[in-house]
Amino acid sequence: MKKIALLGSTGSIGVNTLDVIGKNPDRFQVCALAAGGNVELLVQQIRKFKPRVVSIFEASKARILREAVAGEDVEIFAGEEGAVNVATLPEVDLVVSGIVGSAGLVPTLEAIRAGKDIALANKETLVVAGELVLKTAAGRVKIIPVDSEHSAIFQALNGENRDRIRKIVLTGSGGPFRTFSRDQMDHVTVAQALNHPNWKMGNKITIDSATMMNKGLEYIEAKWLFGPDLTVEIVVHAQSVIHSMIEFVDTSIIAQLGIPDMRVPIAYALSYPDRIETSFLPSLNLAKLGTMTFEEPDFEKFPCLQLAHDAMMIGQTAPAVLNAANEVAVRAFLDELIPFKQIPEIIRLAMQRHEPRPVNCLEDVLVADQWARREAKKLITVIH
Ligand code: NDP
Repeated sequence: MKKIALLGSTGSIGVNTLDVIGKNPDRFQVCALAAGGNVELLVQQIRKFKPRVVSIFEASKARILREAVAGEDVEIFAGEEGAVNVATLPEVDLVVSGIVGSAGLVPTLEAIRAGKDIALANKETLVVAGELVLKTAAGRVKIIPVDSEHSAIFQALNGENRDRIRKIVLTGSGGPFRTFSRDQMDHVTVAQALNHPNWKMGNKITIDSATMMNKGLEYIEAKWLFGPDLTVEIVVHAQSVIHSMIEFVDTSIIAQLGIPDMRVPIAYALSYPDRIETSFLPSLNLAKLGTMTFEEPDFEKFPCLQLAHDAMMIGQTAPAVLNAANEVAVRAFLDELIPFKQIPEIIRLAMQRHEPRPVNCLEDVLVADQWARREAKKLITVIH
C-alpha cells in the first residue's frame, strides 16, 4: 500500500489523481490533501478518501472547512505552512505535486527535503528552481514526471543508457491557435483560448498551451529532468498521440504513444516502477486515428517559445522571472485586463528589465519571482 499526499487535490491533476487512486484502493492510500480555496470539493474529497491531514491555502476558509467536516477524523491546516505539513507528513511515501504555478515550489522542495518521492506535475517548480530542486533530490528521492511529455521520455529511457541519447523530441499539439494567422491571433477571446483541442486541464496551463509557453516551460523542465546539455527539439503533432520521443545515437527513435488522458501518466507515476490496469480507459485505436501529422513550431507566431529558450540559455534567475511574469500576464488575460498578444510582450519586457543573478538558495529564486510579479503588474497597469 503506497501512502500518498496530494498537493492541488481540487485541480485537474488532483481530481484525475484521486480518480486513479479511487479505482485502486488496494494499492494506494490518501493520507493528506492540500488545496487552494475550493472548500466544497475538498469536503467531498475528505468524506470519500478520509485523509488524516488536510490543508487549505486560503486561511479565511479553514474555519468553514473545519465546521463542514466536524464529524471526520481529520486535522486541518492553512496557508503555505499547511501545504508543507501535507507534503512532509511522516507516513507518506509519495507526494503528488499538482499545485499550479510557483506556489508549488516550497511544498515540493520541503517534501524532497523530507525524503519523499515526488510525482511531479507542477512544472513551474523545475522552471523556477531546477538546479536547486535536483541538487536537493539527488541520491535521496525519485522524481517521477507526470507531465505526459516527460512521462513519455522517462518511459522511453527505461533500460537505456543516457549517454546514448542524440536528442529528445518534445511533441506539442500546437494548441487552439495552431492554424490561426497572426492577425486572427490579435483578436482571440478568453473562451477561444480556453478551448484546447485535445486536453482538458486547468485554466492556467490551457492558456499556456494557447501561447505555447507551456511547450517553452516543458523545454526547460526536460532540460532539468534529463540533462541540461541534451538537445531538446520541439515538434508540433496536432493529434497528441505520440507524447514525446528520444532519438538515440544510432538514429533509432523510441516514442511513447497513448490516448490523450492525464490518468495514464498519473497512473504510471503512482505505480512506478510497476504498471497498473487502467481498464476504465479505452485503448488507442490507430486505424481509427488514420493519420499523424508533424510540423515545425512557428517561433514568430508563438514568441513565448523563444522567450523560454532565451531564459534557459541565460540561466540564473531568468527562468524564475519568465515564469512569474507569465503567471501574472496569464491571470490578467483571464481577467480580460489585457489582450492575448500582450502576454509575451509583458514577459519580454520583464525579462529585459531583469538583471539575472546566481541561484544559490531558495531565497534567490523567491526574490526574483516577487520582483518579476511587481514588474509585470506595473506593465499591466500601463496597458490597462
Ligand atoms: P488547476 O488550476 O486545475 O488546479 C490547481 C490546483 O492548485 C487546485 O487544486 C488549486 O486549489 C491549487 N492551488 C492553487 N494555488 C494554491 C496554493 N497557493 N496552495 C495550495 N494549493 C493551491 O491546475 P492543473 O491541475 O491543470 O495544473 C496543476 C499543475 O500541473 C500545473 O503546474 C500544470 O502545469 C501541471 N500540469 C497539468 C496538466 C493537466 O492536465 N491539468 C498536465 C501536465 C501538467 P483550488 O482550486 O482549491 O483553489
